[in-house]
Amino acid sequence: MTAPLIDPFQRPIDYLRVSVTDRCDFRCVYCMSEDMTFLPKKDLLTLEELDRMCSTFVKLGVQKLRITGGEPLVRRNIMSFFRAMSRHLDSGALKELTLTTNGSQLHRFADELFDCGVRRVNISLDTIDTEKFAKVTRWGKLDNVIRGIDAAQKAGLRVKINAVALKGVNDDELLPITQWCAERDMDLTWIEVMPMGDMGEEDRLDQYWSLKDLQADLEKNYTVTELAERTGGPARYVRLEETGQKIGFITPLTHNFCESCNRVRLTCTGELYMCLGQEDMADLRDPLRQHKDDDHLETAIRDAIKLKPKGHDFDYSRQKVEGQMSRHMSHTGG
Ligand code: SAM
Ligand code: SF4
Repeated sequence: MTAPLIDPFQRPIDYLRVSVTDRCDFRCVYCMSEDMTFLPKKDLLTLEELDRMCSTFVKLGVQKLRITGGEPLVRRNIMSFFRAMSRHLDSGALKELTLTTNGSQLHRFADELFDCGVRRVNISLDTIDTEKFAKVTRWGKLDNVIRGIDAAQKAGLRVKINAVALKGVNDDELLPITQWCAERDMDLTWIEVMPMGDMGEEDRLDQYWSLKDLQADLEKNYTVTELAERTGGPARYVRLEETGQKIGFITPLTHNFCESCNRVRLTCTGELYMCLGQEDMADLRDPLRQHKDDDHLETAIRDAIKLKPKGHDFDYSRQKVEGQMSRHMSHTGG
């Protein structure tokens, strides 16, 4: 029997988020600059290497795999990777294979994703106004994403919408977005904007819309019941009694979820980040590339998990960017 991954604070690590590319067909203002420089291709793990890496994590007890990016569905031949991971669902070792996507390519892949055992997908969508959507994503087209959502639902995938709460952008759309999701039977999670990367910090602080304020606005219009449900991540949930909808709030800047944190994040270059809010990471690409057997990789993963910190360091209250992460969300995958 292989011992499961347990961190120094006795948290079992059974959830891996994997960024399969740093590239994207959008340039969301809070995520990337318009002239992003991407990593040289040789630095990225190949799909075969990603398979070996993820399979080793599964062997060590990871039960949930979320594929992200950049935009995971722009990576060439990514379906062969989903197909490869589906064997772990078939064997029962993996309980869930999911992805977070901007939805732009979903109309092409929804059926195949379902066929590979994916049952749920998170689609990031901050506004249902065509013009605003074009502004926020810079390169995105709302129609295309809606087409992707339609295809996903038709294929049988359960869709959750993730919206970043942005003052001056979608604070006037709280009710329309909520209603739109209710009509389509989609759950909705709001994400507090995080100080990531190195572009336009002042802009980002200006965009900050606290989820406390957002929830207070919801409470003016709905009966809001707090739910006890937790997922080991930074989300908490409420139910809107009038629609029966579950609404999530992700406030990565607060510390109230660290004690139950069950996840680590692998970048597309094989760096393992133990915490979204800390710079500590371990390189797994060398142990993977330099040894044909997986023993070194397994040891490197176990050693990395020993570094998982108790909690993180963000602090917006200081209204400056101390504790700000120098890496972009598209690097760690959010
Ligand atoms: N491209 C895919 C997408 O947009 O869903 C997957 C990768 S994206 C980096 C993952 C999530 O991170 C998205 O929901 C996005 O809105 C969120 N995100 C990106 N930058 C962020 C920031 N600065 N603060 C909060 N959330 C952010
Ligand atoms: Fe691309 Fe997702 Fe970042 Fe937007 S949030 S630029 S879709 S990676």
